[in-house]
Parts: sequence; structure tokens; C-alpha cells
Amino acid sequence: MTVSRAALDEAAAALLPGYLELVPLPGERDLNARVRRADGRLVVLKLAATDADRARLDLEDAVLGHLAARTLLVRTPSSIERRTIRVAGQLRTARVLTWIDGDAWTDHAMDDIDLWAVGTAVAALDAALADFDDPALAVPHRWSMPAAGRLSFDPIQLPAECREFTVDALTRFRRKLAPALERLPAQTIHNDANEHNVLVDAEGRPSGLIDFGDVDRAPRVCGLATLCAYALLHAGDDLLAPVLPLVAGYHREAPLTVAELDILPGLVATRLAMSVVNAAQQARDDPANPYLMVSQGPIRRVARQLGDPLGPLAVCRLRDACGYPAVPASRKIVTWLSSAAADPAPVVAAARPDAKVLVLPADTDITEADAVAALLGSSTADLAVGRYGEDRGVYTADEFAGPGGERRTIHLGLDLFVPAGEPVYAPFGGEVVAVAVRPAPQDYGGTVILRHETADGTPFWLLLGHLAHDVATRVRPGQRVARGERVATVGTPDENGGWQPHPHVQLFTTLLGRSHDLPGVALRGERDVWLSISPDPNLVCRLPIRPAVAQRVSDWIVHHRRTNLSATLSLSYAKPLQIVAGQGAELIADDGRRYLDLVNNVAHVGHCHPRVTAALCEQAGVLNTNTRYLHPAIVEYARRLVALFPDPLNVVFFVNSGSEANDLALRLARTHTERDVVFALEQAYHGHTGALIEVSHAKFSRAGGAGAGPRVRVCRLPDPYRGEHGDDGAAYADDVARHVYDLAATGSAPAAFLHESIPGVAGQIELATGYLAAAYAHARAAGAVCIADEVQCGFGRVGDAMWAFEQHGVVPDVVTLGKPIGNGHPLAAVVTTPQIARSFVTGMEYFNTFGGNPVSCTVGLAVLDVIRDERLIANAAVVGSYLRAGLDELRQRHDCIGDVRGRGLFLGVDLVRDRSSREPATQRARAVIEAAVARGVLLSADGPGANVLKIKPPIVLTRQAADRALRALDEALVG
Ligand code: PMP
Repeated sequence: MTVSRAALDEAAAALLPGYLELVPLPGERDLNARVRRADGRLVVLKLAATDADRARLDLEDAVLGHLAARTLLVRTPSSIERRTIRVAGQLRTARVLTWIDGDAWTDHAMDDIDLWAVGTAVAALDAALADFDDPALAVPHRWSMPAAGRLSFDPIQLPAECREFTVDALTRFRRKLAPALERLPAQTIHNDANEHNVLVDAEGRPSGLIDFGDVDRAPRVCGLATLCAYALLHAGDDLLAPVLPLVAGYHREAPLTVAELDILPGLVATRLAMSVVNAAQQARDDPANPYLMVSQGPIRRVARQLGDPLGPLAVCRLRDACGYPAVPASRKIVTWLSSAAADPAPVVAAARPDAKVLVLPADTDITEADAVAALLGSSTADLAVGRYGEDRGVYTADEFAGPGGERRTIHLGLDLFVPAGEPVYAPFGGEVVAVAVRPAPQDYGGTVILRHETADGTPFWLLLGHLAHDVATRVRPGQRVARGERVATVGTPDENGGWQPHPHVQLFTTLLGRSHDLPGVALRGERDVWLSISPDPNLVCRLPIRPAVAQRVSDWIVHHRRTNLSATLSLSYAKPLQIVAGQGAELIADDGRRYLDLVNNVAHVGHCHPRVTAALCEQAGVLNTNTRYLHPAIVEYARRLVALFPDPLNVVFFVNSGSEANDLALRLARTHTERDVVFALEQAYHGHTGALIEVSHAKFSRAGGAGAGPRVRVCRLPDPYRGEHGDDGAAYADDVARHVYDLAATGSAPAAFLHESIPGVAGQIELATGYLAAAYAHARAAGAVCIADEVQCGFGRVGDAMWAFEQHGVVPDVVTLGKPIGNGHPLAAVVTTPQIARSFVTGMEYFNTFGGNPVSCTVGLAVLDVIRDERLIANAAVVGSYLRAGLDELRQRHDCIGDVRGRGLFLGVDLVRDRSSREPATQRARAVIEAAVARGVLLSADGPGANVLKIKPPIVLTRQAADRALRALDEALVG
């Protein structure tokens, strides 16, 4: 038995009497073991080194205590016991910590790890440590990155493979990075998120972070650099590949500044250099400990390659991964090049801004003799061009292979196909910075790089490639050139690398610290980075052409939704869909699969209805202005709309969204009554503006909400299925009367009673019989305005009427319309009485830039026409009751369906864990939705328990489609 094993056994016997099993774990200085206690539970036993610093042990315990009180994305250990015991005759500190399940992330292939989530987990931990401090953190230790410049070592003692890298990295740290670090705020960081300390579950998602022995006070980017350093050691061909998602994930949780990103690659190198130095030192001090050397093999393996992956391109890639422009100067350069001030001379005589241009297809084989000439054929074009940004098939040679063998295919230049021998000119005055003939590794023939400047002195570069070899004698580095001065000659295939004659014109906003190896084509996955480094060269050539359009893959969209859109936007389904087209009640995904859309009540008359889109396009092609000019469409539309309402609802306001409609409705009510308080229903949702969140119980009472404010009174939801009064609407309405009474006691009265006619977000609730009539009576007796929100359920969806309030025998004072009104076009409306409209005339103008514009009104009219001409209200009734009957039949066979409710094509299927308790079956609903999407049917859930399947498809739904929905649902409910 080894000495350390014996020590662990002795400690375990003292702290964990009767323990069942002990398995030693790796450790840098502590002796660690996983121990199964007598009660069967796993714990971690840590036996500190004999010379361990007590203050640091206290610090570690304090950190664990601090984190135990925080909500993190992963688990961290907590301390169970700590005692000083005598082991092998020496006093040592032994600690017992909770065990955290999970594998070290190196036990999985890097591709199987959700690195983005690992990044978020480390960021959340750092954020939780930001307000922790302890005097012991002031004492520097060997893994403290800000102190890396003070590490003393003898280069000769370092392994030869790592020597140069280590010395370079630490020199650079001292000169450049340490001063930059001093400008960043320091905080407590975990500082050791290495491959052994990040735990992951079987799916590769992070589950725990352990080992707080190296916590430090440093800028948080130091801890991130540590995480990245160890990931990089386990990377494939592209060393930076695993670093990018880690950093992007970290950034999403704890946004990084560009100042932090700019020094990150250098800090990654620093951390690896620290590892080399510390390992060499510790190996001398403790030659028997294999853990000290675990990282050294991988570091030796990659040390020679590290310079480039951690060079200037790494900064560009990291910025891009976080949604920042890869090259910040790019914006200025592009703006200047687009301005009149730039005034470039043509690069070749034929490439004038008024030239007739033949754009070559992306698949043209430009290595093939006569391929371009054949395409030019009898055309009268002045020149042919190969476009910037296009994805080309021609790059099959080995020199275009990137990591993992993927070809670089995105063209970063503009190819100007003109005869060999044509002169090539400098577009601007500038300086020659590089001249080459057959540069490696890509054979560009003759190349020249010119340095230019914008008016404010920002440099940019122009690379001209595939030139004749005479470039070497025409110009030399350091030489000044004038605008329009000849610098080279278009090369023949023999001297230009085998291509049909053309200069390749490429802009650079940075040369990445290189003078050669500037690629002319990029990997698809690095398109954004390279298009920022090399913006469109047509900014210089100014030919009448457009850049190629990128194919946008779902991964790219998901990535940039994360970096450049708010995290509060959600996506449907475990595997988000990229929908590329819509037709009728169907949506078509990028893989061609057709989904039946049971969710979208906006595409009311069918996705992309041809009559509606034709009306839209036609009017958009003629005129779009605002309400300050006379136009018949707004009046015609207003009159068509009010004809659909009972008296006295005959004044319309046009707005752009349901929220805007409700927001305005509240203003109308408040102005009319000169009061403030709004009565609204439990679990209501009325929109996203500040005023509407205030009255939307589903928002202010759920996650992130601030609770009920003083301007709202929440009235009991008259829910016949779960409510205490069953279907007795008058009984629920007593709650409205109670609020009136309570309010009166404070000397106040309500401005409005606001309700959806069929509450949707609340879970497709059909209001209890008699509720609206009784509630309106109470509210009106108190002088309140009654507002019906028909944003979800209006326009004939209910099948038996145009508006859902009609079934209740009431006439509201204000009705709000949205979603289906424009079939997807942003249009909404408020319909009210002349009296309320009159009260709104206060002297303050009501102007809405887009509301009531001719295009929107034309679209609204077309929607009304289609509803009428295609008899869609009748369709909603017929297909709706057919679907409802099918759902009722499913309820007979599936116990998890507690209730089926709704009218027309506004239905709800309430899933319950148990029919008698009616407890919402939230997980089940999620599973059913996933099973349905797998069967080509789109569903979603609503209600506070997210358990009510809402069915509100375009009302063009056919009987056959209803059958398809029922079949899919039947199977999904079994699964
Ligand atoms: N009212 C109701 C009943 C709604 O369901 C919604 C949207 N879900 C809104 C208002 C807000 O409409 P919009 O999202 O168009 O602003």
C-alpha cells in the first residue's frame, strides 16, 4: 500500500468510521478520495498537505459556504466536516465534502460535450463569486494569473518542445497583457475550470464544478482563459474550435467586453506557459505525483502550433463568436469606401462603374481554358466577374483543405476576368507593403498588397492577385504609388497559378500581423469572420453587381440568435425548426418537410394567401404613406370593419400590433373616465408594453414579474373546469362587484374592465355562462369602460360569429383586434364608441406613423374579402366541430385528457396527471408536443401549468387536415 493510500485510510477511519469503500482521486497537493460512507452515501475526503496554508483552507470553506446560498447552473460541493487529525504521526487537516455525480469532461469526446453550456456554467459561477471577498485572496499563489510575470524559472529546466512557446508567452504577458489586466476589475474567480474539475452528465451537459483550491482574485477573463486553455489541449485540428463555444456561452451568461476578448488568446497562452513552469517546478518537488504532469503531454504536443491559433485571427474569431464585429475598424473603412470622398480609380480599364458586366455562376470552372470565354460568348459585356462571398465548387485542391479536411470555398475577393497582359492600377494613392511571386501556400501568381488609408487615417489594404510575374520588377515594398498608377499586369494561366486570366481583388481591414498566407477563400463556418476581415471589394471597383447571398444554415441562425438577439426570445421544440415557406395550414421546413400548423392564428386565411399577398405587393408598389393625406383605403376599411360590429361601435383607430391596440384601449378608457385602475382577469395576457404587463396577471405574477401594482385589480378567472363556481358565471362576477366595493372604500373607482373573450394564455378558457353579462353590469354600474380583447379569437375563428364576445350577449365599449386581422402583416385596430372617441379629443394629437397606412389597410380589406368569399367562418364551424368531436373521442381513450373545450377553431385540450385532481400534466404536454412535431404536426401549450394544448390553426383547415391532426395526436398521447 502506498503511503498516501495509508494516510487516506487513516483519515477516513477517523472521520468516516465504518466507511465501505475508498477510491483515491487525483490531486495537485491535497490527497483526495471518493469514499462510500457506512450509510451508503458517497462523499469526498480531502487530506490537506502537511504544509497546507490554514488561511487558504478557511478561504476554500468560505467560498463553498458562499456558493451554497446561490442558485447556480451546476452543482458545487459543500463542506460536511473539517477536522485536524493526526495521520502517520503528523497533524493534518481532513475535510469531507459532498460528492457530485458526473464524469470529468475529458472522459467524453470533445464533440459530445455541450461546450456552450459549460461556458455558461463557469460564467454563472464567476458571477456568483463576484461579491465574495476574503483577506486570504490578497496573498498571491502560483496559479494566480496576474502574478504570472513574476514566475521565476530557468528556461533550460523546461522541456525543449515547450521552451520557446513558454518564454514567448510569458514575455508577452509581462509586456502587453499584465498592464491590460490591471485596467480590468478584479473579482473572486474559480480559476481552475480544467478538464478534471468540470463535471458533465451522460449527455455531455455540465453538471458540476469542483475543486476550489485555486480560487483567486483576478479579472474574470483569467478564469475563462484557464477554462479555454484546457479545452484547447483536447482540440482536434482547429485548436480554437472548442474555445469559441465556451467563450460564446460565457458571454451569454456574463457578457464579456471587447477589451476582455482582445487579451483572451494571450491569457490562454499565459496559462499554458504557467502550467509548463509550475509542472517543471512541482515535478522536482514531488516527483511521485502523476497528476502534476497530466497536462504536460498535450501541451508539448501543441506547443509548436500555438502561435497562430492564439494570434490576431483568434481575437477576430472570438469577437465574432460573441456577436461583435470581427474587426472593429471594418465599419469605418466600409463607410469611407462607400462615400463620395473615396473616389477610386478602376483596377483594370474595363472595370468602370458603368461597365456592362457578366456575373459568372458560382460553379464556373475558372481553371478550365475557355470556360469564361464560352460564357462571355456573343455577350456584349465589357468583362466577366466572379463574385465576392460566393460558395464555389472549384476549390478541390489540397491547398484549400482546412481543419478536418473541409475545403475553404467562400470567395473573399472579386475576380475581374479580362485578357492577360492588361495593366492593373492602384485604385487609391498609398504604399506597397508586400510583393510576391508564387507565395506559399496558395499560388496566387504575382501578388501585391497596397496599404491605403481612409480620410481619418484608418489603414486598410488591397491585395491584387493572379498577376504576371513582372510585378516583382514594377514595384517594391515601401514604394509610394499614386491613384491610378500602374502597379502590375494581368497574368496568364501559366504564371497566375493556373486560372483563367483575372486579377483577384481583395480588401483587408487587418493583415492579422501577416505578410503572406492571407487566404482568398474561407471555410463556410468562418464566413462572418472573414467577410469582416475582407469586406466587399466592390466598394473599390463599384461595378453594377451585387454580392452573392449566403446560404444560412440553422446552426448559424441559432448561434447568432444567441449572440445578437435577446435571450428572452424563445424557440419552439427541442430541435428548432427552420421554416422556409408557408401555404394554407401548412409550414414547410428547410428539409422540405411539410408541417400541419395548429398553432398560428395569425395566418388566419392561410399562410401567404395569394389574394392577400397580391394586394399587399400591388399597393406597396404604388404608395405607402401615413394618415396625414387623403387616401380611400383607410376609410373604406374602417367602414367595412365597423359594419361587422353592433352599434354603437363605429369609430376605429388603426395601430400595428395587439399590444398597441390594448395600450391605446387603456388610454381611451382612462381618458374617458379620468380614472386609472383597471380590472383584469387572472392569468390574462394583453401584450408586452409597460402598461399591459401591469394588467397581465400571466406576466406580472409569473417568473420575472413584479407582482400586482396599484393600477390593477385581478378578478377571479371564470373557469368552468377548474374554477370554484363551475359554470356559474354570475358567481364569479361577484368578484368584480367585490373589487368595485373595495375600491370605493378607498375613494376610487375603476377605469376599465378588460377581458379576453376566450382567455388564451390562461389556457383556452371558455368563460362561464353568464359571466360577461354580470361582470359588465357590475363594472358599468361603477362607471367603468368594458374592453373586449379579441386579439386572439376574433374574425370568425369561433365559427358561429365574427366576434367571440357575441355569444355572451354583451356589447363592449371598446374592442381590440390584432393577430389575424392582417394575416401576418403588422396591423391591429381599436374599435370604440363615438362617446369614448370624443373624450380622447383633448387637444393632444394622436399620430401613429404606420397605423392606417394604405398598404396595411389594403391588406386588411383583402383579409375581409377572403373570409367572406371563401366562407371561412362556416369552415371554422364545420371543421372545428369535426375536430372537436374527434378530440372528445380521444378523451374517451386517453385518461390524460382532462377536458376538451372551445368553439370553432379555437380549441383547448387540457392534459392532467389525474382526472379527479385535475393537476396539470406539464411534462406530459411537453412530450406530446414533441411527439406531435415528430409526426409533422405543430402544437404548443398554454395555461399556468403549460398543459393545455392550444389548437388555433389557420381557419382554412380542411377535414383531411383535421384527420391528420387527430391521428398524430392519438399516437403522441400514447407515446
Ligand atoms: N392580447 C392577447 C389576448 C394576445 O394573445 C396577444 C398576443 N399573444 C396580445 C394581446 C398582444 O398582441 P401582439 O403580440 O400583437 O402585440
